[in-house]
Amino acid sequence: MAHLLIAEDDELLRDSLRTIFTQAGHEVSTCVDGALAWAAIQTEAFDAVVLDLGLPHLDGFQVLTRLRQRWPTLPVLILTARDGVEDRVAGLNAGADDYLTKPFNLDELLARVQAMLRRANLPAHANPSLPVA
Ligand code: CA
Repeated sequence: MAHLLIAEDDELLRDSLRTIFTQAGHEVSTCVDGALAWAAIQTEAFDAVVLDLGLPHLDGFQVLTRLRQRWPTLPVLILTARDGVEDRVAGLNAGADDYLTKPFNLDELLARVQAMLRRANLPAHANPSLPVA
């Protein structure tokens, strides 16, 4: 089980995200804007963040930039409504680990977040005596 932060201002999508991650056994906190997301990140310990880029008050880029200055390795997946490659590149350059472009498949999002969590829990250097999976 992981503690996840979902920052998404679209209520229907936010509820869908909460449902799918809760059903997968995770503890989910949600925020409706970037300022609340940044406040939550500073006061609670999260294992991963799903961050919409188009958020009120602070946008996802601003949240991500602030977050990365203090938590360089916290897994972050960004959601972008725009299909332009510029947003995805800018998000990755700002420190996102992965991204999905809306509209996306909820099962794919869940799988990508689980993959981020697995990578985050790997030791920095794999044991060479173990077989490669
Ligand atoms: Ca949005």
